[in-house]
Amino acid sequence: LFGQPWVFVRGVPAMKFLPPEGPPEVAFAGRSNVGKSSLINALLGQKGLARTSNTPGRTQELNFFVPDGFGGETTELPPIAIVDMPGYGYAQAPKEKVDAWTELVFDYLRGRPTLKRVFVLIDARHGIKANDEEVLKLLDKAAMSYQIVLTKIDKIKPTGVPKLIAATEEAIRKRPAAYPGILATSSEKRSGLDELQAALGMLAE
Ligand code: GDP
Repeated sequence: LFGQPWVFVRGVPAMKFLPPEGPPEVAFAGRSNVGKSSLINALLGQKGLARTSNTPGRTQELNFFVPDGFGGETTELPPIAIVDMPGYGYAQAPKEKVDAWTELVFDYLRGRPTLKRVFVLIDARHGIKANDEEVLKLLDKAAMSYQIVLTKIDKIKPTGVPKLIAATEEAIRKRPAAYPGILATSSEKRSGLDELQAALGMLAE
């Protein structure tokens, strides 16, 4: 699954542009700058695939990726699709942008039976912030299974990692839709990627 090239399928700015339901989907969500593009690129072994999202004005789209070799002439479905959700939590984001994000994401979470899990990325240095909390609430409300992925763990002391994992586990323990395992990753040091790939592999068909 991850030894092969992946391709960008399309950017979806509204529900009516979603590709037809097919393979199981997993989505990646996180505050802007959490390291989401870096993680997706590291996971798929391709540098420029997910665009790094340092541009606050960037169109808010759900970006779909699948392993190469599906579609076109072949009618075979890919085993899984990865969806890069627009980042959230820009300090200067106007209210209508936040509302548009919430609407698109909530509609997608509620209206997409093929969406199997959302990986919510949390910066290891910052932990769960108020706007992450809002997103976790949204996921709980949508009854959409989600798993926490800590990013940039190379930026904290190695001895701090188990403590952070335990604290994060405790923080989500009572949340209804939270999946119990916490993944700890660094795209820079390529750590935790095997575990993340294994989690994705379990959800693939
Ligand atoms: P996005 O906005 O969530 O897509 O975040 P990016 O992937 O663009 O990363 C934001 C910043 O964090 C960039 O400067 C990256 O180089 C940096 N970054 C991303 N992943 C890591 C990591 O694993 N370790 C370290 N130290 N920095 C990272």
